Amino acid sequence: MLIDTHCHLNFQAFEPDLEAVIKRAQTAGVTKIIIPGSDLTNSQKAIELAEKYAGIYAAVGIHPHHAIQIQNLEKTRQKLLHLCESALDRKVVAIGECGLDYHEYQITKYPENKITPKVKQLQKKLFKVHLQVAKKLKLPLIIHNRQAHDDILKLLNSQFSIGQFPKGVFHCFSGNQAFLRQVLERGFYVGIDANITYSHGLQGLAKKIPLERLVLETDAPFLTPQPNRSQRNEPKNVKIIVQYLAELLNVSAEKIAQTTTINARRLFKLC
Ligand SMILES: [Zn+2]
Ligand SMILES: [Zn+2]
Repeated sequence: MLIDTHCHLNFQAFEPDLEAVIKRAQTAGVTKIIIPGSDLTNSQKAIELAEKYAGIYAAVGIHPHHAIQIQNLEKTRQKLLHLCESALDRKVVAIGECGLDYHEYQITKYPENKITPKVKQLQKKLFKVHLQVAKKLKLPLIIHNRQAHDDILKLLNSQFSIGQFPKGVFHCFSGNQAFLRQVLERGFYVGIDANITYSHGLQGLAKKIPLERLVLETDAPFLTPQPNRSQRNEPKNVKIIVQYLAELLNVSAEKIAQTTTINARRLFKLC
């Protein structure tokens, strides 16, 4: 049994054939999938899908890309809380994805696509709201971090004292060994995606992550493994990450599958 801890089945890319995608995942042994939210509307959609399908769970959150669209932080906090509390059967298992993203993409919602000090400030305020909601509801965090290592750690440190850190995952991990150590010291798990099939930096880093802290994710529809990188990714491809890690780490595929599944169940309290 495998768990895809980060898959955007709530995105339009999956609308035409969602049930077939879930079926293919199940056939490949991926029997549990967590759908993160990236705004309020698709967080709601994630909850609806989780309530509809067995083995599907939701996370509620707003991606830092959307920070500029937030008008009222207090209202946003209330909405996030309400979404989590309204879900049936404990189907909301985490807060996220949330975090900071300082990478300058070609097309963003920010003026001239620039990450200005003002944009950083907005992202930080929005991330802080997520940290507070996670703390209040005692839910783990799904953290999105791109080129914002120091500010992420600062914000985590400001909200949680050492030893008191909420568990969570740094999804689609990127960073150097020093940052990895700081993430592990705070009790977080590390999410590995299929970009490990082509990112040499990540391949080196993966060898430094204790197996007990690893969880697997596809981030589908993005991050399709080699050699099909132009195609839509699917949750069934967790299996490819397992096989790749098994070779890279010289551990059996069964051991990778078993341990990462136990980790994900423990982190997100999945039965
Ligand atoms: Zn992300
Ligand atoms: Zn994502």
